[in-house]
Amino acid sequence: MTRDDALALDAADPLAPLRDQFALPDGVIYLDGNSLGVLPKATAARVQQVVTEEWGRDLIRSWNTAGWITLPQRVGDKIALLVGARAGELVVADSTSVNLFKVLSAALSIAQEESAQRRVILSERSNFPTDLYIAEALARERGFELVLADADEIPARLDHRVAVLMLTHVNYRSGRMHDMAALTHAAHEAGALALWDLAHSAGAVPVDLHAARADFAVGCGYKYLNGGPGAPAFVWVHPDHSDRFWQPLAGWMGHASPFEFTPGYRPAAGISRYLAGTPPVLPLAALECGVDTVLAAEAHGGMAALRAKSLALTRLFAELVEARCPQLTRVSPRDDALRGSQVCFAHPEIGYPVMQALIARGVIGDFRAPDILRFGFTPLYLRFVDVFDAAGHLQQVLASGEWRRPEFNQRSAVT
Ligand SMILES: *Cc1c(COP(=O)(O)O)cnc(C)c1O
Repeated sequence: MTRDDALALDAADPLAPLRDQFALPDGVIYLDGNSLGVLPKATAARVQQVVTEEWGRDLIRSWNTAGWITLPQRVGDKIALLVGARAGELVVADSTSVNLFKVLSAALSIAQEESAQRRVILSERSNFPTDLYIAEALARERGFELVLADADEIPARLDHRVAVLMLTHVNYRSGRMHDMAALTHAAHEAGALALWDLAHSAGAVPVDLHAARADFAVGCGYKYLNGGPGAPAFVWVHPDHSDRFWQPLAGWMGHASPFEFTPGYRPAAGISRYLAGTPPVLPLAALECGVDTVLAAEAHGGMAALRAKSLALTRLFAELVEARCPQLTRVSPRDDALRGSQVCFAHPEIGYPVMQALIARGVIGDFRAPDILRFGFTPLYLRFVDVFDAAGHLQQVLASGEWRRPEFNQRSAVT
């Protein structure tokens, strides 16, 4: 593989025109779209329009005239297209952590109604910490037990005590992807519900919630959906369950008719009851622009084409780094079917300073304690030549020892 070979792959890439949707800074190879997606070109103008026209000029009338009040459903319907949900089943609201609290609580209520024996929330030991913290807190409050297992042990741990299997589809650190349909089936066979966190999946890998027969899902707006820092998250509940329970954050936006201002709570039908407070209009406008950048792939082969390119990018990067950087240990799966859209390498001591030195060269990935160098690959804007050049920089950082410089060894608050 030479740099010219990489350029030839880019010249033949049917998704190449999609890169033009993004305001990418010069001199940067951005391998962190799994943590904060890149700014779409359309976002600044759209947010400006919402600020000056919808807010500045039209003021409160915009809740009706600009459709602000239905933004959670409108943007939700667009995200639904990316995760195998139907129109009207998914809304945008709050953060992933808060949405997880809502759906996990509803899942525990359903399980409790069906059997008093089911007292366990089963999850993966290496799941993203906020998911485990939310589950731990709810388990304490509701008298359940949070049980953690390694990925390979999960099927064997699904027994008559499990109320909910709560998993993140693609592991944030290793990039390993679960078989959603198989594990959901195993959970159902054991009488448990299946709840999926799609934070590292939505917009990155094909997801079909209905085909997998999932019960609940949440996901993130600021990663592969390019919604901007702190973008609101999304929540989906299978229509068989959505009307069965109140969610615990029974705010007025989840009420059947909020503008009647009645003292008693009557939940809205369907997924809208999973809204709590007033929708954040500016972040929702930005998120819609981000989601549109992913939906634009429809004209170029859609999610199947994105997945094919993502696999080619991650495969190439992993092979180049393995060949050139023997100091690093590959963590992400080799098997395409088990890999999300990221590649991770471990080094027992110098992971953090190596990543800082790489960032100083304009190759932006991130570090996840204790020892992981993490690289995310967004096929919407990354080129094969970027992958080739990034692997070259990593090799040079290791060979030159520039990671030893003191400034690369100072830990920042966000790694
Ligand atoms: C990024 C991520 C989150 C983020 O949750 P916030 O509430 O937005 O901070 C949650 N879960 C997983 C698995 C993630 O990867």
